[in-house]
Amino acid sequence: MKIVAANWKMNLTRSEGLALTDAIVKGMSSVKDVKVILAVPYPFLAEVGERIKDVRNLHLAAQNCHHEESGAFTGEVSAKMLRSFGAEYVILGHSERRVQFVEKCRTIRVKMEVAIANGLSPIFCFGESEEQRMKGNHWKAVKGQLSLGPNMLTEDEVRKVIVAYEPVWAIGSGLTATADQAEEMHKHVRSVLYSRFRELANEIPILYGGSVKPSNAAELFSQPDINGGLIGGASLVAEDFLAIVKA
Ligand code: PEP
Repeated sequence: MKIVAANWKMNLTRSEGLALTDAIVKGMSSVKDVKVILAVPYPFLAEVGERIKDVRNLHLAAQNCHHEESGAFTGEVSAKMLRSFGAEYVILGHSERRVQFVEKCRTIRVKMEVAIANGLSPIFCFGESEEQRMKGNHWKAVKGQLSLGPNMLTEDEVRKVIVAYEPVWAIGSGLTATADQAEEMHKHVRSVLYSRFRELANEIPILYGGSVKPSNAAELFSQPDINGGLIGGASLVAEDFLAIVKA
């Protein structure tokens, strides 16, 4: 089953977020065989969770968690708290966190372990920068992030993981990797996962993220190694997001 996840980032007020949720819930009645995940800001979790809890194929996610289980970390949120508010997934390693909050591969890997130990499925994000692609270093960059991320997990842990290839140059820029560029990278991702997990690698969903829109979603999602998408900007407009889900 394809997976389409929305990343609302730090957008929307309470009333806007709930209106968007209601519109998505309504649209889900005509969606077949797509798992849809809404990654909402922390304060939205309880109310959005309440609205979607009985909707088939609609799931709740957070956009980050702390790497410790609990303690004196003012302003932070733990994986256990997220689970207790009904979250099933958590985005980890998004490039905005790697760059703006200087999150290192090791921290992201520990966050994945803590998330899984507390009943959450990580959506592990990775992808090369524009400079890395220009210099032809994108294959190596992606292999490195995967090697220090999901490939460090056990087989049992990795069964819970979704990975999302998000070339940094395509995020929020309006530039999308072509379907061919994305597919060839997804094949590479699959082979890096295969080197560690063998046949199990074929069961790990690989999403594409980076300026997915209603106009390019169908072509991207028709590629054999693209198992769905992680959607930022276009997930804030119900009509666009639902068009992507239906693609
Ligand atoms: C994202 O931030 O995960 C993302 C894919 O954003 P956008 O769709 O806006 O490029």
